[in-house]
Amino acid sequence: MVRSLAKYPVRHVLVVGAGIGGLSAALALQRHGVRASLYERARAATEFGAGVVMTPNAIQGLNFLGVGDQVTESSSRSRGHEYRHYRTGEVLQRRPPAEVYTARYGAGVYYVHRADLHRALLAAVLANDPDCVHCGHVFTDLSQDQDGVVVRFANGACAKADALIGADGCRSVVREALHGREPVGYTGQVAFRALVPSTRLPNGYDYRRSMHLGPGRLFLSYPLRKNAFMNVVAIARQPAWQEESWTVHASVPELLERYADFNGEVRDLIKTIETTTLFKWGLHDRPPLATWSAGRATLLGDAAHPMSPFLGQGAALAIEDGVVLARCVAGACDLPQALASYERARRARADAAQRQSLARGDALQRAFVDSFDAHRDAEDTRLLDTFFDYNPATVALDEIRA
Ligand SMILES: Cc1cc2nc3c(=O)[nH]c(=O)nc-3n(C[C@H](O)[C@H](O)[C@H](O)COP(=O)(O)OP(=O)(O)OC[C@H]3O[C@@H](n4cnc5c(N)ncnc54)[C@H](O)[C@@H]3O)c2cc1C
Repeated sequence: MVRSLAKYPVRHVLVVGAGIGGLSAALALQRHGVRASLYERARAATEFGAGVVMTPNAIQGLNFLGVGDQVTESSSRSRGHEYRHYRTGEVLQRRPPAEVYTARYGAGVYYVHRADLHRALLAAVLANDPDCVHCGHVFTDLSQDQDGVVVRFANGACAKADALIGADGCRSVVREALHGREPVGYTGQVAFRALVPSTRLPNGYDYRRSMHLGPGRLFLSYPLRKNAFMNVVAIARQPAWQEESWTVHASVPELLERYADFNGEVRDLIKTIETTTLFKWGLHDRPPLATWSAGRATLLGDAAHPMSPFLGQGAALAIEDGVVLARCVAGACDLPQALASYERARRARADAAQRQSLARGDALQRAFVDSFDAHRDAEDTRLLDTFFDYNPATVALDEIRA
């Protein structure tokens, strides 16, 4: 453990994990003139074929990173969002279309293919520094002292720099190296995900976003790549997750059985899924940490605050973290000050998101009974507004002393 760090500007940062959070952080650092080197365990830096909803706060971050237009151009703009009763299909609540959010927050809501988002971030990072991404590097451990931080990988390689960012996701090994081992808890929920190409959908299919709310289950679908696909996310309660892996193949009959009491529109969409493209995930999380940083190292994204999907904010917060962390590093005169400023700016928001996301999941899985009365509607709108109304590139950062 490093007790005191010399006062000097940070010139070179190692980032473990080239997911959405790691790439955003690297790109943000590069934009502030700081060198970033990324280490990814996969043989190639790619993303899973699925959708992700980018809300105004995420789009503002992507705009700062210079990839906002590229990402939104290839995506589907929200025409609004409907919450519907699982059995009857009755619309319980409507959310406004992208234009309303653009007028309110300066950016809209977009449905983005994760691979497109990942590709845009990766290309921008490589355009700044063609040699900065190192695939096939599985982080194993680190040591740090007055001179810097040294990171070691399973392939025998090691790397040294002024600072380290652990952006290695919910099962972060960097987190364990910094803060000790802790169990990763199963949330009692499973998510099924699939992409349905438009060629499998009937003519005249209505490509809108809707979430059907049922007892202990949600069924979300929305268009991607300007109606080239429908993205399907079905989240269901399940007492235990006994699979060895976190992600396993699922079958269409299994999903149909789970959603047998949902209306025909939902069941018909499930029947269009090609079974080999259907996966299920056990949703896991870790409790909030008292601090993210230790010495020269810190965490971001799911490594710092694993996020359940019910607020649709996990990737958005990972992008925000990267943009804010780079501002703190660029604006502070030494590393401890930068990391302290980063945590002050980010921890309360991330902790609240973790908590509120799980609570919103419970509420949505009951909403078909209580329905959305005016009070609940206003509360839910207020909750979402606190996340959407945030620009990581301009939000005030306290006490960065130059
Ligand atoms: C069903 C579902 C739906 C979701 N929908 C949304 C949504 O609509 N909007 C939204 O904002 N969020 C959504 N999320 C959340 C979002 O996907 C995550 O919060 C986000 O991907 C976190 O990004 P990350 O970069 O922190 O971590 P990850 O995406 O997990 O990336 C971590 C990277 O680190 C690498 N890595 C791991 N271990 C090592 C190691 N030892 N050495 C080197 N590299 C390593 C991994 O290979 C990976 O590339 C959803 C999540 C789920 C489960």
